[in-house]
Amino acid sequence: MMSRLLEKILVLLSVLPFACFSQEDGLFPITRPVIGQFSEIDGAQLKEWPQREDELQCTSWRVAGEANNLNPWRTIPEECIDYVKEYIKGKGYEFDLVRVSKIAGAFATTVNLSNDGRDAWIFDIDETLLSNLPYYAAHGYGLEIFDSAKFDKWVETGNAPAIESSLNLYREVLRLGFKAILLTGRSERHRSITVENLSKAGFCDWEKLILRSTEDHGKTAKEYKSEKRNELVEEGYRILGNSGDQWSDLLGSSVSERSFKLSNPMYYIP
Ligand SMILES: [Mg+2]
Repeated sequence: MMSRLLEKILVLLSVLPFACFSQEDGLFPITRPVIGQFSEIDGAQLKEWPQREDELQCTSWRVAGEANNLNPWRTIPEECIDYVKEYIKGKGYEFDLVRVSKIAGAFATTVNLSNDGRDAWIFDIDETLLSNLPYYAAHGYGLEIFDSAKFDKWVETGNAPAIESSLNLYREVLRLGFKAILLTGRSERHRSITVENLSKAGFCDWEKLILRSTEDHGKTAKEYKSEKRNELVEEGYRILGNSGDQWSDLLGSSVSERSFKLSNPMYYIP
């Protein structure tokens, strides 16, 4: 590795005198392309391209998902599984989550609140306030088709950790005077374990926790969440902010003044 690097440096040093204007020209030395001198370096670069292109293809797939252009999609493409793992376990996912929370927090400070108890910020729960990464790490990070029975078992442990950047945003919007309304696709039968899990993760003082009741089963998330937002508006709430990891948390009717999409390359919910 070191000897290859040394070779490249020596090649560069050998061509530099020919690639610069002289000081007498009254110009700063600048490099010029020297044809035929870099064949070995070019070769090394070419060898790196296939891997780099695979990574770019997966980034392209992820961006298409985040922009909702892939809608609908079922699983991560098999060739992108390592890429998604790396994104989630490395710094990429965390940076994206921190960024969206900071942007949302900055917006929250610009809103003129009425302070009549009806200034609302909606939060989704899974992959928005709570992270299910321990579950998805054990199930291929989205490579496996979603299994609701297995996922319910995980939910019933009540062990989902907070997404720290979302907890910071949550606390900030409460401090500013918003009412936090939690609107989740989780079932009503998971109310008590969800309350327990949220509390354990540091979330408190929400205005409402809305879960799917039996009549909501069979509706898409977009239909169900739109209906619940319609009801909130009818009750007099002004929906000023909405944070969710799925477009179905954010689109539909009674949409928020500003919506904030958290990254999620692991699954898609219509
Ligand atoms: Mg979610």
